[in-house]
Amino acid sequence: MSVTDGLPRVSLAFLPTPVRPLLRLSAELGGPEIWIKRDDQTGLATGGNKTRKLEFLIGSALAEEADCVITAGSTQSNHARQTAAAARSVGLEPHLVLRAAEATASGDDTRVSGNVLIDRLLGAVIHWTDEEAPYVETLQNVRMELQDQGRRPALVPYGGSNATGLMGYVRAAEELELQSDELPSFAAHVFASSSGGTQAGLVLGAHSCAWEIGRPLLLAISIDEIARDLEHQVTRLVAEGTSLLGMGEEVSPERIRVNDDYLGGGYAVVGDPEREAIRLAAETEGLLLDPVYTGRAMAGLIDLVRKGEFSTGEAVLFWHTGGIAALDAFGEVLLRS
Ligand SMILES: *Cc1c(COP(=O)(O)O)cnc(C)c1O
Repeated sequence: MSVTDGLPRVSLAFLPTPVRPLLRLSAELGGPEIWIKRDDQTGLATGGNKTRKLEFLIGSALAEEADCVITAGSTQSNHARQTAAAARSVGLEPHLVLRAAEATASGDDTRVSGNVLIDRLLGAVIHWTDEEAPYVETLQNVRMELQDQGRRPALVPYGGSNATGLMGYVRAAEELELQSDELPSFAAHVFASSSGGTQAGLVLGAHSCAWEIGRPLLLAISIDEIARDLEHQVTRLVAEGTSLLGMGEEVSPERIRVNDDYLGGGYAVVGDPEREAIRLAAETEGLLLDPVYTGRAMAGLIDLVRKGEFSTGEAVLFWHTGGIAALDAFGEVLLRS
């Protein structure tokens, strides 16, 4: 039973994703017990958090009888790659609007590696653009072009973040609730937040599962937005999700918490904190994090632990939202010491 049961959905992900303790990393840091929810293991063409959103977004595209899907993202968009794979898995043609003018600091051409390599293997039609996120204009143009050709495109928004997509993370909260018998009571959940759908879904899920406000604290580490802007975006998404579910009462704004201390050099700029977090996870746990999102979010968590933000007896849950497919597009900058 899920509050989302009335909505169209297709099954795409391997669920439930596992939850495990990171004992060696926790011991290394000497703070709280850190656990991990493996949403990098959702299974769709190397997985990640967008797969949960796409269960609803593609479900809705099929309900509309679309024959192709359009979405947009940065060059190395994990969302675009998962959308292309999701579309292929149900027989729809994927169209991706990708940002052309994005090179890594090392100057690697990321248009033939990482996620883009997978996009190409999936046979996605790529429409390069110089527009900035959220790529609204190019998306509309591609949609009109396809409609003029007599196609029936479904538009999946940037990041998969609208009321429909965020339902994937409402279900994720419900899923965790069902796993909770075997788990400690977490003081906080820590996760990367960018277009806000993951956070909005968890917030709405926490509300509908009647989790106490502030326990667990749902702590979003912002990847590329100042806290006020991201909180604003999440508030809007939560309101849209509440109305899609026809839920009466409002979700408390206290559930929406964003930390923007770790924006570093900006989106997809790998710095020392990300490099350290990625190496530490790999060397203590054999665990891969990604250069753009989970590396940064884990760097934030490590810093918070070092600052004594959590006590030793507590447990904290880190949501691994995926992104591994981007690693090789950042090779040089990741190996720099
Ligand atoms: C998209 C993405 C996020 C951020 O999720 P939003 O719902 O856009 O906030 C985090 N981690 C990874 C790996 C992603 O691809």
